[in-house]
Amino acid sequence: MRIVVKLGTSTLTHESGRINIRRIEALCKILSDIKNAGHELVLVSSGAIGLGVGKLNLKEKPEDMPTKQAAAAIGQCELMYLYDKKFLEYNHIVAQILLTGADFENETSSSNIKNTINRLLELNVMPVINENDSIVTDEISVGDNDTLAAIVAKQADADLLIVLSDIDGLYTANPREDPDADIIDVVFSITPEIYELAGTKGTKLGTGGMVTKIKAAEIAMEAGIDMIIANGKHPENLYRILDGEKVGTKFRGKK
Ligand code: GLU
Repeated sequence: MRIVVKLGTSTLTHESGRINIRRIEALCKILSDIKNAGHELVLVSSGAIGLGVGKLNLKEKPEDMPTKQAAAAIGQCELMYLYDKKFLEYNHIVAQILLTGADFENETSSSNIKNTINRLLELNVMPVINENDSIVTDEISVGDNDTLAAIVAKQADADLLIVLSDIDGLYTANPREDPDADIIDVVFSITPEIYELAGTKGTKLGTGGMVTKIKAAEIAMEAGIDMIIANGKHPENLYRILDGEKVGTKFRGKK
């Protein structure tokens, strides 16, 4: 299978923005094993701004564009250093691709993105993709990595998109407020009710929330790709998904 895995900032860092070493080590080990089992993997990884905030010891995510862009430049470097080091332990090579929304609108760059991803996968290399936060402004950005991951999954003709987040999946009500909230196993189509369930809140260091994940699901489903939202706190969820267990919420792609 060709699988796109999206890792959110809250999965990769502590609230301070410092790296969650235990989590990253577990994720890299399991992702390497999944590659060893013969699957093709593309990572869409957030965490650049979060890691930059941590490295600079800033108290919170900056509001102003220049500091945000500086934090992204610093954090992206650390992020790739970590992936390079960790995946190399298991003999896997990573490659960085930084994109903006404008790149997908331009026919030439869009087909170059596709060709590069395909070639890297043929070479048994794992592309690690993020938005090029250091140069984007609102007008040309994708804006959040959930959407970016769905666009990448579509471009790469993926069979599955797994979004690892700090929540178990989509609930029938806000699980942080309602103890009776139940997880929804499968979503067959995105309706206004589904958007209503998504609420609005994201995390402190990341960008998305459930709404951006639903938007991503819409793009993936339309392209015929299944998308699963699962909790990144438990990296072994990745094994469980591939073993066919019911994990998180599955958005069934149009077949
Ligand atoms: N591109 C951002 C980063 O790496 C994350 C965007 C998001 O959280 O969706 O920090």
